[in-house]
Amino acid sequence: MSLHVYNTLGRKKNDFVPLKQGQINFFVCGPTVYDYAHIGHGRSYVVYDVIVKYLRSLGFTVRYVQNITDVDDKIIVRAAEEKKTAKEIAEHYEKTYHEDMLALGVTAVTKYARATNYISEIINQIERLIKTGHAYLATDGVYFDISSFLEYGKLSNQKLEELKVQRIEPNPAKKNLGDFSLWKKHKQGEPSWDSQFGKGRPGWHIEDTAITETEFGSQYDVHGGGMDLIFPHHEAEIAQMEALSGKPLAKYWLHNGFLQVNGEKMSKSLKNFTTIRDSLKKFPAAALRYFFLSTHYRSPINYTDEGLRAAANAVERLNETIHLLKLVNEKNDEETHSKINDEIQSLQKKFTTAMNDDFETSRALGAVFEFVRTLNSSIATKSLDIANAREALGVLKNYNEILGVMNFKDEQLSSEQKSLIEEREVARKKKDWTLADTLRKKLLDTGILVEDAGNRSTWKRV
Ligand SMILES: [Zn+2]
Repeated sequence: MSLHVYNTLGRKKNDFVPLKQGQINFFVCGPTVYDYAHIGHGRSYVVYDVIVKYLRSLGFTVRYVQNITDVDDKIIVRAAEEKKTAKEIAEHYEKTYHEDMLALGVTAVTKYARATNYISEIINQIERLIKTGHAYLATDGVYFDISSFLEYGKLSNQKLEELKVQRIEPNPAKKNLGDFSLWKKHKQGEPSWDSQFGKGRPGWHIEDTAITETEFGSQYDVHGGGMDLIFPHHEAEIAQMEALSGKPLAKYWLHNGFLQVNGEKMSKSLKNFTTIRDSLKKFPAAALRYFFLSTHYRSPINYTDEGLRAAANAVERLNETIHLLKLVNEKNDEETHSKINDEIQSLQKKFTTAMNDDFETSRALGAVFEFVRTLNSSIATKSLDIANAREALGVLKNYNEILGVMNFKDEQLSSEQKSLIEEREVARKKKDWTLADTLRKKLLDTGILVEDAGNRSTWKRV
């Protein structure tokens, strides 16, 4: 099956065909840097990280751009609260955002585009919108006239007539109640830039289209973000760019579902607000990724400690198998028994089918687990030879490049632990059970549990 993705624009699954063969321009709304990123952000960015890595594994060249909103009302408010400048706040939380993403293994982004680096492009876009009659000057800045763009509402499935009377950003000087801000006139103490329509700062929506027009041109392949951004944010992006270009802004609109905490919406007032860094103090990053990927990206996900613990256990089971496969690797006295080609082919088929069906990561993880279970039973019956084990490790490693839920780092044993294990092997072969037992206890004191199965012994950390 070829790749199918659910497109919010049109609300159905479409065959995925990029504008230019083999190349994908991919944009996802980045954070407004005024606070630590929360686990809702974590879900969203892990999802797009996996999607982009999967697309690359299919052979596409993906240019993945994410904006950083570093000028915004929320940043200004926070700066006033903390008696700092808006720039200081933005710089600090941009830094912590990158730290959090790195900790979560989110590494697919090609370019992080800071809004304040695109001010002249933003001003230029607003100028063109004014010139073509899509934007107008009001007492407190520049607004987009939604009645000038007849398709306004097409992404969120709303009628223009209704949207015209829907009140956003209250201001009696606006033509329609639903007109949105492109440029906010300077107020004392706020960051500002000079422009032909007065000193001020950009509205939120115009940042993204200025960035994407600069990076990709007026059209690109995929725009992603949380479902809460469909209206007005993404609707506004479409209006701004399509009013100028007359062409569809993005071919595919992907939106991930909400994250709830214990069945409730996450909010500061409900005191169930969890940052990525707080969550990472309790659970390993791989567990968080596993947890996010165990639900389809468009479905809501409920964050509970129980769910995270289950994910941590699943990750541990995967890592245990990897560890055992490496131990098979180390032994050179195995005989060849089974071939795992069939299992590998079956995994490949199931994984690809799942991911090609609108990125069904939960089913893809299921296929990996099925494979791992087969490996476990082959290891238990000692029917896996070195070549098989190496091949299995290679396959798992490849899928982990996309998923990022397994650990392939070599467990480092100290030289003391290594020699204890060797001594114990010798004692066992000599059937000196007393010595073997003493050495086993010594190893346990250093955190290594040795387990015997038949004529072979394995170890793991406890
Ligand atoms: Zn955005």
